[in-house]
Amino acid sequence: MPLVNMRDMLQHAYQNGYAVGGFDLVSLDFLEAIMAAGEAQRSPLILSLAESHFEYYDFELAMAAAEQAAKRSFIPVAIHLDHGASLESAIKAINLGCNGVMVDASHEAFDGNVAMTKKIVDMAHACGVPVEGELGYVAGVEGEDAEKHPGEVIYTSVEEAQAYVEQTGVDLLAVSIGTVHGRMKGEPVLDFERLQQINEALNIPLVIHGGTGLSDEQFKRLIENGVAKINYYTALADAAGKKMRINMTADEHCGYTGIVKGIQDVMCAEIERCMVNWGSAGQADDVLDAAEAWQPVHHLIIYNLDIDDIDQVNNMMREGEKVLSKIPGVRHVVTANAVKEDAKFKFSWVIEFVHKNVIDSYREHPDHVAFADKLFRPIAGDRISIDYSDNFFPM
Ligand SMILES: [Zn+2]
Repeated sequence: MPLVNMRDMLQHAYQNGYAVGGFDLVSLDFLEAIMAAGEAQRSPLILSLAESHFEYYDFELAMAAAEQAAKRSFIPVAIHLDHGASLESAIKAINLGCNGVMVDASHEAFDGNVAMTKKIVDMAHACGVPVEGELGYVAGVEGEDAEKHPGEVIYTSVEEAQAYVEQTGVDLLAVSIGTVHGRMKGEPVLDFERLQQINEALNIPLVIHGGTGLSDEQFKRLIENGVAKINYYTALADAAGKKMRINMTADEHCGYTGIVKGIQDVMCAEIERCMVNWGSAGQADDVLDAAEAWQPVHHLIIYNLDIDDIDQVNNMMREGEKVLSKIPGVRHVVTANAVKEDAKFKFSWVIEFVHKNVIDSYREHPDHVAFADKLFRPIAGDRISIDYSDNFFPM
């Protein structure tokens, strides 16, 4: 079940001079190709789900698949919301199982970007989740992703980057130094001097968006200058598209499965090439040792009620399920009655938190306080509350 803390994973990459791929997925074919590549290369990886792609798939269903893929694998995996557009989407992503989020407020002026990022960082850190910010602007030029990022490239300035990180507390920073979303036109020119200065000033893992089209040598220099996460999508989409066109040319009557046949293999080959080139291949075991295992906590309450009014009890339970499940870091809320009549405690809540940090932030959250004070505690005097986590391996 190697979901690991993404902050620890990327710190390991940053300190050991390699970069982890954040591979955006838009279908099960992508997911399976990414996992197969990571397992073949014993590489840590980030399953990345971009809010700008949510029109292509159901986020909730994709999260269930991504989480299952991570849990049954033997390599360290993090699940990341890419280009999160709002505080609400960051909360939703965390509650669905993302253990990293990106705030994309890079289209805002500096102060607006700082304000929105800070809000998301405060919420996410209270859930144990690291945050990627973006400063400067990585525009789109050509290809599927280009239209999602209109406008001109704005380079990240060193002074602003320093102020942004200090004021927001982001764990990693996406910088704009000449890459573009989608496909490059011609040979990309990257500003390595600027990157080096940003890295020296910040000393935190840096992120490159728009990795498609860069040369092996350019990736090497990016990593030497602090890049520890590389977002990669267009090259995979293009490789899959090319294979599908070949399939359709070979058999013009082929149906869906005939069209997509073999696309996992071509994507997997490209991802493996990246993992070897970026140095993440072979790092899985070291990352598993170095990184915190991403473990849920079960907040259990067993209780008896001081009243017999069934309507009031049902109302309290329904309201609790509704309100508590929206608190940041809460994955599931289950309320239940004891199966046997003679049970010592007749009722229970089982509330699943994404991380142990949520124990405190949940307790203090105004929606929890209001529910507990007004609806729950007044009628549940006899109760026990305990937090559990499965710690099969050392913290
Ligand atoms: Zn991006």
